[in-house]
Amino acid sequence: MKVPLLDLQAQFATLENELVESVTGVLRSTRYIHGPEVVGLEEEVATYSGANFGVGVSSGTDALLVALMALDIGPGDEVLTTPYSFFATMGVVLRLGAKPVFADIDPVSFNIDPEKMREVLAADTKKKIKAIIPVHLYGQCADMTAIMKIAEEYDLPVIEDAAQAIGTAYPMTIDGNVQWKKAGAMGLAGCFSFFPSKNLGGVGDGGMVTCQDESFAKKIELLRNHGAHPKYYHSMVGGNFRLDAIQAAPLRVKLRHLDNWHKGRRANAELYNRLFGESGLTASSKVVLPVAVYADRERESGAMSHIYNQYIIRVEQRDALRDWLLKNDIGCEIYYPVPLHRQDCLGTDPQPSMPHAEQAAAETIALPIYPELTDEMQMYVVETIARFYK
Ligand SMILES: *Cc1c(COP(=O)(O)O)cnc(C)c1O
Repeated sequence: MKVPLLDLQAQFATLENELVESVTGVLRSTRYIHGPEVVGLEEEVATYSGANFGVGVSSGTDALLVALMALDIGPGDEVLTTPYSFFATMGVVLRLGAKPVFADIDPVSFNIDPEKMREVLAADTKKKIKAIIPVHLYGQCADMTAIMKIAEEYDLPVIEDAAQAIGTAYPMTIDGNVQWKKAGAMGLAGCFSFFPSKNLGGVGDGGMVTCQDESFAKKIELLRNHGAHPKYYHSMVGGNFRLDAIQAAPLRVKLRHLDNWHKGRRANAELYNRLFGESGLTASSKVVLPVAVYADRERESGAMSHIYNQYIIRVEQRDALRDWLLKNDIGCEIYYPVPLHRQDCLGTDPQPSMPHAEQAAAETIALPIYPELTDEMQMYVVETIARFYK
């Protein structure tokens, strides 16, 4: 049996007519830049996420970049983030001439640990840290109640890297009451990616910044279009970070199915959890399952606190297991083999060790979790892993 890590063909087959129609519509309209499809998607993603504004941009990376540009982050500044994420989270900081500083992750959720953030901020006596970028890794939110409290104490803006977490709900606790909020609606801004492997994937690159504040949204809108206001008059320097209409149109079609796809991924995660339990692999600690840390608070709310952009297990002999899975036609991937603070592009500046991020980078592996995955495929994946550890 062949089990790919992700099968976009299976998704396309269910939506072919609608997707083709949406793209043809843009081609016929000749409204390729901005226009009704982009505006429509901006409104729909903002509404879906419970944010006040949405600004379409060219990628998730550019969403982060333009958000930091809107905060005037530059040389001499530092940005506090997680050491365990896709490179873009730190790449945008470096591109602006600023320096990323890291707080280690919580080993259970893989997200930035608020207690570690406090330590880093307490040591920042020269107040160089100008922003915080928590990442909602693998489809589960960072501990935003604690993070927003810290941000308020230190008067720092929070830019959520929600690239892997569109639609993820988080139980924000305000005055002891739980209020479910969605990724991208908690910080000053949320940054989304429509890269094809994200839960809401375009037919190429795309992204969005959601904002709570109108003036911040307006600034992002200007910056994505060279800072021009009015046209050909530039009081600030932006770039071309626009979202193509030909991306927005099929994304609007797919957005209508997103919650169902999330449900499919969650059902697949449950089945994996059960199969791994039955296999004895978890009891023997050969495999450690992912933990949905807020799941016990979901109850009847209908909130989805984990959308499994990735299903990540910790395993013994990780690299050998990867080779074994690939040999048995099972797609898998390592997100991410080198933590950010260990990347060569940071140069020779000494970096404090981040033991939990380093351990996660050495022990984790992603298994296929896409919604169209069949029960038989999942059984084959677990059986194949069980055979490896026999
Ligand atoms: C995918 C991703 C990005 C970048 O998005 P692109 O659209 O590929 O530029 C940024 N951060 C995280 C955590 C991601 O997973």
